[in-house]
Amino acid sequence: MPLLHRRAWLLLAGAATLSPPTPVMSDSPPHPPIRLALNENPFGPSPLAVAAIEADLAGLARYTGGEVDELTAAIAARENVAADQIVLGENLNVLGLHLAAQGGPGGTFVYSEPGYTALVDAVAPAGGTVVGVPLNDRLENDLPAIAAAVGERTRAVYLVNPHNPSGTVSDTALFIEAVRGLSARALVIVDEAYLEFMPDYQARTVAPLVRDGGNVAVFRTFSKIYGLASLAIGYTLAPKPLAAALKQMGIGAFFGLNRLSLVAASASLRDRDYVDAVRTKVAAEREAWHALLRQHKRRFSASQANFVFFDCGRPHPDAAAALAARGIIIGRVQPHFDTWLRISIGLPHENAIARQAVAELLPPP
Ligand code: PMP
Repeated sequence: MPLLHRRAWLLLAGAATLSPPTPVMSDSPPHPPIRLALNENPFGPSPLAVAAIEADLAGLARYTGGEVDELTAAIAARENVAADQIVLGENLNVLGLHLAAQGGPGGTFVYSEPGYTALVDAVAPAGGTVVGVPLNDRLENDLPAIAAAVGERTRAVYLVNPHNPSGTVSDTALFIEAVRGLSARALVIVDEAYLEFMPDYQARTVAPLVRDGGNVAVFRTFSKIYGLASLAIGYTLAPKPLAAALKQMGIGAFFGLNRLSLVAASASLRDRDYVDAVRTKVAAEREAWHALLRQHKRRFSASQANFVFFDCGRPHPDAAAALAARGIIIGRVQPHFDTWLRISIGLPHENAIARQAVAELLPPP
């Protein structure tokens, strides 16, 4: 440190000891809100995606064009699925609405409860009804119970793997076999939004069933491991007739998509290293949560995704409010799990603050 700087620093330090202590605002959190509610990727998008957006900004005056074909081709190559089986967009809701409307009102939709509800929430306006099947005691999709719930009127089964809010993943062979069996009786939609948080995701995906002409659809999103949540871009791999029906309604067409999402998604697919790096960082943080929960002898699900789910031993609204008072925002309460919290993985320093706050909330081990 140069002499002058050191002197200035000493003067400042001296002044600090003379001035009155700064009052501490005990009721305002000491940091900006820590958002751990929506399972986003706090590490952000791939640098390639950011660069692609920057390079495309000047194109905003033009309608979306070839970007749709480029992304479709990239997905087709990656998934080894024909382009006419790919429907771009965050289209779970419209898929639910379409399936419920098609064939007249009264179809039922089977899903695991608690679960992610975008698709099943959308069926009611078209006369669909929902059958919720409880998770099994490991908080996984209860595949035999789901099979038992499928009947004459079942129009689709919606499975999330890894599941949300538990983050549990089903055994690969059992899951693929169950989906194959169910698909002989109804359309099976498998939401793989979080699958890439598992290093062996390629062995676990049911995309090959779609490719082989099964009555199976796979949903993926760029909102999670790819870190593009605010761009609202994802896609469905679907049986050809379903893909064609959705496209006929304009779903996945250029006019409903914005070009920045498309170029960012295409660039993201080129950056496999980034996804691997995010997966590793998320896994380390998730393990630190699980270590804390083991230490406090709490029940928690074997989450493989970018969130943890555990029984905090007190009502969710109280725990959520106590955390919110410390500037930490967590996931909403889940049906039948009144004392369980879902907390997304944030940046390491955010997780450290959240773990400390949760540790203070938990009953003594
Ligand atoms: N599927 C599941 C299971 C999810 O949890 C999410 C995000 N919460 C999505 C899909 C994608 O949702 P969004 O359209 O909000 O990005």
